[in-house]
Amino acid sequence: MATISSGMEPAAIPAPASPSDRWSLESWFSAFGAPDYIAFKDRLTRSLTEQSETTTTANGSLAAALAAFEDLSVKAGHLSAFLGCLSADDADNEGVKSDEAWLSSREADLLKIEAALRLRLAALSPAEFDALTTDPALANAAWRLGRMREAGGHQMPLELESLAADLNVDGLHAWNRLYETLTAKLSFPMTFPDGHEETVPMSRRRALMASPERAVRAAAFHSGQQPWLNHADTFAAGLNGIAGSRLSLYRRRGQKGFLEAPLFDAAMGRPSLDAMMEAIHTHIEVPRHAVRAAAALQGTEALHFFDLEAPQIAPPGEADISWPQACKMVDRAFTAAYPALGAYFREMLDRNWIEAQPRAGKRPGAFCTGSPLRGEERVYMNYHGTVQDVITLAHEVGHAWHSRALLGERLFRSAYPMTLAETASNFGEMILLEGMLTGGADSLALQAWLLDQEMNRAHSYLINIPMRFEFERSFYTERRAGEVPVSRLRTLMEQAQRKCYGDTLETGGLDPMFWASKMHFFISGVSFYNFPYVFGYLLSRALFARFQSEGASFLPGYEAFLRLSGSADCETVARETLGADLTDPAFWASGIVSLEPKVREYEAIASLSKK
Ligand SMILES: [Zn+2]
Repeated sequence: MATISSGMEPAAIPAPASPSDRWSLESWFSAFGAPDYIAFKDRLTRSLTEQSETTTTANGSLAAALAAFEDLSVKAGHLSAFLGCLSADDADNEGVKSDEAWLSSREADLLKIEAALRLRLAALSPAEFDALTTDPALANAAWRLGRMREAGGHQMPLELESLAADLNVDGLHAWNRLYETLTAKLSFPMTFPDGHEETVPMSRRRALMASPERAVRAAAFHSGQQPWLNHADTFAAGLNGIAGSRLSLYRRRGQKGFLEAPLFDAAMGRPSLDAMMEAIHTHIEVPRHAVRAAAALQGTEALHFFDLEAPQIAPPGEADISWPQACKMVDRAFTAAYPALGAYFREMLDRNWIEAQPRAGKRPGAFCTGSPLRGEERVYMNYHGTVQDVITLAHEVGHAWHSRALLGERLFRSAYPMTLAETASNFGEMILLEGMLTGGADSLALQAWLLDQEMNRAHSYLINIPMRFEFERSFYTERRAGEVPVSRLRTLMEQAQRKCYGDTLETGGLDPMFWASKMHFFISGVSFYNFPYVFGYLLSRALFARFQSEGASFLPGYEAFLRLSGSADCETVARETLGADLTDPAFWASGIVSLEPKVREYEAIASLSKK
């Protein structure tokens, strides 16, 4: 574990004059394949083998085995972060790909060790468990150990868990890999509005569907639909395979419904999820008003599915924002509102922790990762000079700051669920947006553009993502009785879209193939990769409202929130640091209703534009 003491002190590192847009990974390993890298891999393999033997034969002290497991997880996490960075940065590197596959098997070994430890924990009496948590080797790890113990109560016998871990590599996770490989190769011919024809890789379709030009969006949607239709049977097989494997495991593990595992991963209870969804469906007219206003701005009766991510108000300024300018914008907004966050961002730049350079061979998208061994974060993105890219930068740095807040905590106290991860990143985004609005951005054009962006986010989080949840819930319900065919997947998808969007999408404006084109449904590591996003969005709105009313005196509370996120469930974190009750629909409703003034402002701009 990293042993640097307090992570929240602003570092006295001046901002570099011209920040680099390339990252450095040399403090992790000198290079891929270098002697230090090879030696680290060898040591990890040896320790894993030794630990597998002692753990699975239940020899020796449980406390020591748990501490050894934590140590191995830190090392595997270090290697995984390094390889994850390399494979994004240099997507065609076959050596990296093969080492990732190697690591995936080592991670399966680690899962087997964890399964054995969980069973041993589950077999303890309450008194024995309490005694274990007072062992000095496991100081402050009680919550995490309790979770492992709880998971152990829902486990198959060890040989079966071990077989499942092996089979998942070639089954469950293989569907995910097949999806990635197949979709990376998809392309389609597209005729652009100016008449020229191009073969477009599928990875570009989403950007084209966010084009300000509606004819481009329509062409990208309709031409880009064909490959999903051509391969519909393959995608349906993948989706059915992933869900079927999970349902079999849930049954064998005695888990009651298909939501039990994702809720456990999200560290939240069913009553909180139900309360959140109830509030969304009660107040769904709030984001629907934003969709209708967007249609009015576009000059149509309603939106088509392909309009949902498009800007309805053009970004101000013709020139691209250069990388140094983008860094300055983020630095200024962070430093004004939250000096420690600003200092941390400058430290990231100074230590070359951000990879932003757009170039061929890089994977699209953005993420934040970190090495638990070094206590260092990295941000990955493709910076193209748009305001949206600047917002992405603030989002990822928000994630990185969350890890920094946990620096010095043991791994057993610092693994936080996705629900709380997305809260921190949204908080970073909101500080930037607020800073752009107040920090000299007095032009009406910028304000209108930012409002448009905010409304887009509102209906994306409060309609689109709940729609994905609705779809997945009906799909899993039907999957229990057998494979769900393509035609039925299309129907379920349309039903979910109708339920959530209501009359805000035009006739023929649904996307029945969204279940195939949305990669999130094929992520094999996490089930229901949707509701945690809504959770993060609404909780970060509540945090930000508190920050706005209390000012800087709120920030120690925010940092307490971040630090608690790895050692308590969401309900406890929210209650202790915000005084909020997540099982009360009124809490969630307040975050939705607080959007109303902005929605009215947006509607006013839309009605002006009609005249
Ligand atoms: Zn994020």
